Amino acid sequence: MLIRGILIIATNVAFALAGASAAQDKKGDAKGDQKSTAKADKKDGKGGKGGKLPMNRMEELVIEALPARAPAEPKQPRKLLVFSKTGGFRHSSIEIGVKALTLMGRKTGAYTVFATEDESIFEPAKLKEFDGVFMVSTTGDFLKPRDGGNAREEVYRKSLVEFVNSGKGLMGLHAATDSYPKSWPLYASVIGAGFQSHPWTKLVPVKNLEPKNPVNLSLEGKDFEVDDEIYQFRLDTAKPTQLRILLALDVEKMGQDAAKGNRKTAGPYPVSWIANYGKGRVYYCSLGHREQIFWNPLVLKHYLAGIQFALGDLQADATPSVAK
Ligand SMILES: [Zn+2]
Repeated sequence: MLIRGILIIATNVAFALAGASAAQDKKGDAKGDQKSTAKADKKDGKGGKGGKLPMNRMEELVIEALPARAPAEPKQPRKLLVFSKTGGFRHSSIEIGVKALTLMGRKTGAYTVFATEDESIFEPAKLKEFDGVFMVSTTGDFLKPRDGGNAREEVYRKSLVEFVNSGKGLMGLHAATDSYPKSWPLYASVIGAGFQSHPWTKLVPVKNLEPKNPVNLSLEGKDFEVDDEIYQFRLDTAKPTQLRILLALDVEKMGQDAAKGNRKTAGPYPVSWIANYGKGRVYYCSLGHREQIFWNPLVLKHYLAGIQFALGDLQADATPSVAK
């Protein structure tokens, strides 16, 4: 009896451990915010219940997923300003996103990151020290000083536009387009789009529209699937006549689900693009809602190529996809 009892206890312990491990795996599907977590849990039954993974575990996953090398040799040491101040909704994926970009620059030698959420870095004299600015899910009026200061905000806005115009790079991921929705329409013109809503938070098919564009080369000509919150943009923005659209939702593969979008017809629903602005360059990718995007090797390679394009190290055709 005693032996049998021990066996039962041992079995229970093993079972409990297996259960804990399964729960831990589920945490790997952590969603970026509670609202979408609840929604996604109902829809695809995945993860989220235990919250997100601890930061050190996420870092390990990022390190395993980082690209081995950059697609281009930097022409000079590149300084990248990573900015993640939020004037509105704050994504929980920002912290690991900033970390992933920092580690990727360090490993590949493509750039060195200075990360801050202090908008005074946009003082023209400070900003000119950088080769590019990467907006990591900024939201709202992110250049507005916390104590008000409308005059300074105006200076910072001009400074950013001048920075890009003068030949530097602007990059952004996910909510970088959900910034300045009203008070500064020029921002959407510079980054390429203004967020409208996110009808799809699920595994979606993404079409590689530019297999030969250097920013897409790491995809080896293939389309792919990704599980994230997918944006659609205001109809007056994200236009193929203004942007070189590199990735878009594959509306054919999505079938009926594509009809949730605001374009009703065949789209496009751009996911990533590059563009020229003045003498400068712009790269944007809407992926990055969920933490797990930052340990997706395919997405990291895409970010890296986009960064090198915007920094001026990777040559790529950024003329609009469709002639006006
Ligand atoms: Zn989001």
